[in-house]
Amino acid sequence: MKTTFRIALLPGDGIGPDVTAEAVRVLQEVARRTDDLHFEMEEFSIGAGEYLKSAQAAFGGTKRERNSADLAAGSESVVREFLRSGDPLPERVFERMPEFDAILLGAMGLPGVRWPDGTEMAPQLDLRERLDLYSGVRPIYLFHPDDSPLKGRQAGDIDFVLLRESTEGLFSTRKTPRDPAAERTTDTMLITRAGAERVIRAAFRIAAGRRNKVTLIDKANVLPSMAFFRQIFDEVAREFPQAQTDHVYVDAAALYLVQRPEMFDVMVTENMFGDILSDLGAALVGGMGMAPSADIGDKYAVFQPSHGSAPDIAGQGIANPVATILSAAMMLDWLNTPASRHGAAMIQTAVRTVFADPRARTRDLGGSLSTGEMGAAVLAALPEK
Ligand code: NAD
Repeated sequence: MKTTFRIALLPGDGIGPDVTAEAVRVLQEVARRTDDLHFEMEEFSIGAGEYLKSAQAAFGGTKRERNSADLAAGSESVVREFLRSGDPLPERVFERMPEFDAILLGAMGLPGVRWPDGTEMAPQLDLRERLDLYSGVRPIYLFHPDDSPLKGRQAGDIDFVLLRESTEGLFSTRKTPRDPAAERTTDTMLITRAGAERVIRAAFRIAAGRRNKVTLIDKANVLPSMAFFRQIFDEVAREFPQAQTDHVYVDAAALYLVQRPEMFDVMVTENMFGDILSDLGAALVGGMGMAPSADIGDKYAVFQPSHGSAPDIAGQGIANPVATILSAAMMLDWLNTPASRHGAAMIQTAVRTVFADPRARTRDLGGSLSTGEMGAAVLAALPEK
C-alpha cells in the first residue's frame, strides 16, 4: 500500500525555482524506486516576485498609464502607493498551507524589492511566525575534506546541528513600523519562558539521537534577555540528566566554529545569532549550497535550504541544489513513516556517494557541474531500493 504525502511547493525567487526543481526530481525518483511512497505536489507563488506581480495588478487599474508614467518619473506618493499594494504572501495561499503534510520552499526575497521602511520581503519569516515553526534545525556536515576551508578535516569530522529559535529573539519587532522622521529606532530581543523552553527541549531531543551534547550560545554576560535564556536552559537541562551541556558566548562561538568545530554536537540559540552562525557553519563545509534546514513546529514544518535567492548567480543554471535536496531528505525524515525514513536515507547515501568523488562539484565548490547536472548526479546515485 502506498503512503501518499501532499507537499506544497514554494519555489520563490532567484535561484529558488532551479534548486527546488532538482529536489522535486529526486523526490519523484525516490518515490518511483520505493513501493510504498507517493507524492502529490502543488506549487504556489510567494516571494518578492509575487509581490511585484500583485502590486502591478492592484496598481494598474483604470489609471494604469498615468500611474506608470508617474512611477517612471519617481513621484514619491505614487511609488509609495505602488509599494503598499503588493503582497508577497497572499492570504489565499497562506490559508491553503495547513492542507499539506509538509512544505518545501526554495528561497525568498530580492535585495531590490523592499517595503517603504527599507526592509525586504521575507514571507519565509512570516510562515515561521504564523505557523509557529519555532525550531530552525540546521545540520552542518562535511562530506569531503576538499570542500572545507579548514585544514586537516576528514569527511564527518565537522558534524553538528545548529538550532535557531525562529519565532522571537531579535526578530520579534521586525514588523514594527518605523517613523521615517525619527532619529532613533530600536529592535527588541524578546525571550519568553515558553518560547525558550520549547526550542531548548527540542535541542536536547535532537542531541539524544546524536552525541548527546547541547551547547547554549548566548550573550548572557551583557544582555538581561540572554541571562534569562541561560537560566531557562539550565532549568530545562535538569530534565535531561544524561546529556552533556556547555555555555558559549556568541562571539566565542564564532571563534570556536572556525578553530575547533568538533566541540559542537547540538547548538541552541536565539533567532539572530542562529541566523548569523548558520552561514558561518555552512562556510565550514563548502558554503550555502551545502546547508539544508527545516523549520519545525508542533503541527507544521517547512523545509528549505539555509541560503537565500542568490541574485548574484540567479538565472545562470549554476546554483548548487544539494542544500535543497538534503532539505527534502529532512522532510522525509520528519514525515516519519518507515517508507519516508527509508527515502531520506536513500538521498543521504546518494549525496555521500556523489561527494566521494571530488570532481563532481558545482561552481561554488570549484567544479563545473550545472544545477541540473548535480541534480542528475544525485538522482543516478540513489540506491535502487
Ligand atoms: P544568499 O544565501 O542568497 O547568498 C550568499 C552567497 O552564497 C552568494 O554568494 C550566493 O551566490 C551564494 N549561494 C547561496 N546559495 C547558493 C547555492 N545554492 N549555490 C551556490 N551558491 C550559493 O544570501 P544574500 O546574498 O545575503 O541574500 C540574497 C537574497 O536572499 C536577499 O534578498 C535575502 O533577503 C534573501 N534571503 C532569503 C533567505 C530565505 O529565503 N530563507 C535566506 C537568506 C537570504
